[in-house]
Amino acid sequence: MDLTLAIIKPDAVEGRKIGRILAQLEDAGFSIRAAKFVQLDEPQAGAFYAVHSERPFYEPLKRFMTSGPILALALEHEDAVTRLRKVIGATDPAEAEPGTVRAQYAESKERNAIHASDSDETARQELSFFFSSRELMGAA
Ligand code: GDP
Repeated sequence: MDLTLAIIKPDAVEGRKIGRILAQLEDAGFSIRAAKFVQLDEPQAGAFYAVHSERPFYEPLKRFMTSGPILALALEHEDAVTRLRKVIGATDPAEAEPGTVRAQYAESKERNAIHASDSDETARQELSFFFSSRELMGAA
C-alpha cells in the first residue's frame, strides 16, 4: 500500500468542511495514517509551493495558505497518488468531475479546499515536509 499527502486547506477548515471531506476520503477507501493541524508561515508556504515561485498566483497562494490552520494528512491506499488525485478532482472546481471533493467544496481555482501530491516522488517529499518518520511509523 502506498502513502500520499493531502492537505485540507484554510477555506475548508474555516468553512467546517473537515468532517465531510474526511468521511469522503474514508468512503473512497483511504486510511488516515497521520494527521496534524499546522499554521504555516510565509517561508514555509513558499517552500511547500516553491515549484510555483515564478507563477503570477504564487504571492496570493502563499497568503491564502497562511490565512488559517490547515490539516495535513498521510493517506494510505493502493496506488494512493493517482487514486487521490481522482477523488479530489481538477484544480478549478468549474472543471472538476461531479462528486469530487473540489466539485463539492471548492470556492474557486485558488480556494479549492484540498491539496494532493501529484507524483510518488512529490508525495515522499511532501509527507516528510509535515511528518517525521516516527509519525509515519506503522504506515506503509
Ligand atoms: P493542484 O495540484 O491541482 O493543487 O494545482 P497546481 O499545483 O497547479 O496549483 C497549486 C495551487 O495553486 C492550486 O491548488 C490552487 O490553490 C492555486 N492555483 C493554481 N492555479 C491558480 C490560478 O490560476 N490562480 C490562482 N489564484 N490560484 C491558482
